[in-house]
Amino acid sequence: MLTYAVPWPRGLGPLNYNYYCPPESCEVEILGVRPSFCEQYVYDPSVTTLWEFILKALHELRSGRADMAAIYYEAIDKEGHKYGPDSPQVRQALRQLDAVMQSLNKEETNMDNQLNIIMFSDHGMTNISWMERLIEMDKYINMSDIVKMMDQGPVVSVWPKANKYKEVYAALSQVANMKVYATKDIPERFHYKGGKFVSPLTLVADPGWFITENKAKLPYWKNTSSGEASALYNGWHGYDNEFEDMRGFFLAKGPDFKQNERAAPIGAVDVYNLMCWTLGVDPLPSNASAYALTGLQSCCPCLCLTDLHVWAAQPS
Ligand SMILES: [Zn+2]
Repeated sequence: MLTYAVPWPRGLGPLNYNYYCPPESCEVEILGVRPSFCEQYVYDPSVTTLWEFILKALHELRSGRADMAAIYYEAIDKEGHKYGPDSPQVRQALRQLDAVMQSLNKEETNMDNQLNIIMFSDHGMTNISWMERLIEMDKYINMSDIVKMMDQGPVVSVWPKANKYKEVYAALSQVANMKVYATKDIPERFHYKGGKFVSPLTLVADPGWFITENKAKLPYWKNTSSGEASALYNGWHGYDNEFEDMRGFFLAKGPDFKQNERAAPIGAVDVYNLMCWTLGVDPLPSNASAYALTGLQSCCPCLCLTDLHVWAAQPS
């Protein structure tokens, strides 16, 4: 995800406009609010489309019709799933994005003192192998004991029949390369267990492992040269957030950011507060780190951002 934001002078009240290029969710009303502009979602936009969105966003920001623009770009995620995070295809997608960023650097030269640019990803990616590291649930439990099962992959939600809960829990607890959590035992750091949709059992695979009901439910290519089936996906995310491969990246430049600073990671949940801060709006309560807020409110931007462990790139 890429986000571009201009600072809104503090004390002038709430933002007048938001401009959202196609994140997957800008059509959705949140707490009764929609963005002022929302481009229709485009699946897997090309770099050309990305560049058009950036130009459009810059135009809206320059003209004062927007205070913030957000752009989501998914090519790297898509290639990462398909070919794996270390693949030449991911490298090529990164090179293309880098070229667009170089164009942006040239395009926004006259906005250096006004435009904050924040770039970040919402997750990392790791290699998976459906041929070797697969956990098939029907090998361990009777699937007719399950009322509902949601998703497949690193995290699977399971609703066993009430009278089978203990049996299913005991059986799944024996499975290697995966953890089974009763709702109350889900680690706090997931910020998850209090949710109203959380299932009685939550399965979390060890890094690189993939949970599914049965291998036959997974999509495979059958068009390899040997005629053998091969996995349709080779990369995935959603594993335990302590696993280093799940880390995303964070870069920022602009008048509110110190130059050439590199620091320890921040939490993805802290990015929201940081965006609010550059815009001069009070963030709503969230899971963001408390220190992030207090640090920002009491000192100058550069010091605050250093405290926040933000990695800021040097403007070219
Ligand atoms: Zn993805």
